[in-house]
Amino acid sequence: MTADHRQPGMCSAYGCPMVVTTRSGGRWYCACHAGKSPALNDQITRELRRLDFIVDSVIDLRKEYSLGDWEAASNRIQARLIAAGRRDLAIGAADCSPHRPGVPIARMWLQRLERILIEATDAAASRSTFVPSVPLRKSIIGPTHASTVHPYADPDRA
Ligand SMILES: [Zn+2]
Repeated sequence: MTADHRQPGMCSAYGCPMVVTTRSGGRWYCACHAGKSPALNDQITRELRRLDFIVDSVIDLRKEYSLGDWEAASNRIQARLIAAGRRDLAIGAADCSPHRPGVPIARMWLQRLERILIEATDAAASRSTFVPSVPLRKSIIGPTHASTVHPYADPDRA
């Protein structure tokens, strides 16, 4: 039994919209959160939410490829990517085996989309500069009023 409240098949990182691919430390994570410091969870999740049209496409690809109506699913996914201004992400020559040019492979398309998410979230995580290591204090410690000593007082006027 697990205390995980997330939906089955979804990444264990809080708020993550991705499906799981990797088991780590007794939990399942998506390809973007797997092996990353928990301190970076939110930056990674934020980037995934920004790229939700790719996330949704990856989820649809994983689901529809095994379930059935591949043609309709493929058209819907491509329409979504093109509407988001990313015609370059539609299935095409980049998704062909070198041994069978002209025949795109759905699994290669899925891997390309997932790789784009991994690279984007890696970049977002490395841009993050604020990683709190100690809790911020709520109260101020030390003098709270200016003292009567003037460290920059003009000695000629003293
Ligand atoms: Zn995740």
